[in-house]
Amino acid sequence: LTEVLEHEQDLPSRTPDGHDMPLMVNTGLVVDAVAQLKRRISGVGLYRTEVPFMVTERFPGEQEQTRLYRDQLESFAPLPVVMRTLDIGGDKDLPYFPIEEANPFLGWRGIRVTLDHPEVLMVQLRAMLRASQGLDNLQVLLPMVTNVDEVDDALKLLDRAIVELGEEGVSVPRPKVGVMIEVPATLYQLDALARRADFFSVGSNDLTQYLLAVDRNNPRVAELYDACHPAVLSAMASLAREAKRLDRPISVCGELAGDPAGALLLMGMGFDALSMNAPSLPRVRAAIRRVPLEGARDLVEETLRLDTPGEVRHHLAERLGGWE
Ligand code: PEP
Ligand code: MG
Repeated sequence: LTEVLEHEQDLPSRTPDGHDMPLMVNTGLVVDAVAQLKRRISGVGLYRTEVPFMVTERFPGEQEQTRLYRDQLESFAPLPVVMRTLDIGGDKDLPYFPIEEANPFLGWRGIRVTLDHPEVLMVQLRAMLRASQGLDNLQVLLPMVTNVDEVDDALKLLDRAIVELGEEGVSVPRPKVGVMIEVPATLYQLDALARRADFFSVGSNDLTQYLLAVDRNNPRVAELYDACHPAVLSAMASLAREAKRLDRPISVCGELAGDPAGALLLMGMGFDALSMNAPSLPRVRAAIRRVPLEGARDLVEETLRLDTPGEVRHHLAERLGGWE
């Protein structure tokens, strides 16, 4: 199927009725064929910084991180690159920084870890800022935010890093800062978050896990884990609406965005961009090029009336036919 769709890949991600749906990629390590990829996307929607940290033997130092980040920023410039601060804990462990907990997904994860270790976060922010010098395409994303003051604390560190670097003769503008929406509590704090953040990025993988109280990696409950659960879809629709009201761009960087039916639903809900693993791009682009925005909106309306994940899946398969 991917080969069949290959000829469309240099065509715009645009619906038959002329709506542009920006597609972005999720990255971690080195990206293949960047020149070709760059023509086909609107930027990097999620650079998972923990990925390079997983293949080193200790926390990479500021120089090393600067090189890594420079490589990403330069490869994709002038397109934006959204760099997420270290998101370890949960299922993502660093061999040199083990975290032993009874409930890792409810424990020390993401920004909780890096705010408890500001020295780690400072090195990372300094490296990102240094790497961005002269490029102007860095955006910073904060993972696993639960409380608004976590954003305040991270922004204080960011501002301090900018001042420090200025004193060292490295002058950089303040990058846009986004908050990941993946802890259900943030759904109810969007106004306060919007006063602090420039954009939102929905982590539908964790949001699904936490809304449904289903461990995303436990095979015993794998059948219950479904981003097409009516509650998850209803949350997503409400997020898109609220972000519009608050005038903040909102995108999705979880797996739902890389699923053709999921992508159409998210487009119909009004998300501004979809970020996915590169191999998902062809099928998502093909779906967008075949369904008018109006059709996607109808699909959302129909789907939100259904009661069970099974009914949603069935309806999507029926409406989207063979290539879904
Ligand atoms: C998510 O939770 O949806 C997400 C994009 O982040 P990660 O999968 O890295 O937790
Ligand atoms: Mg996540």
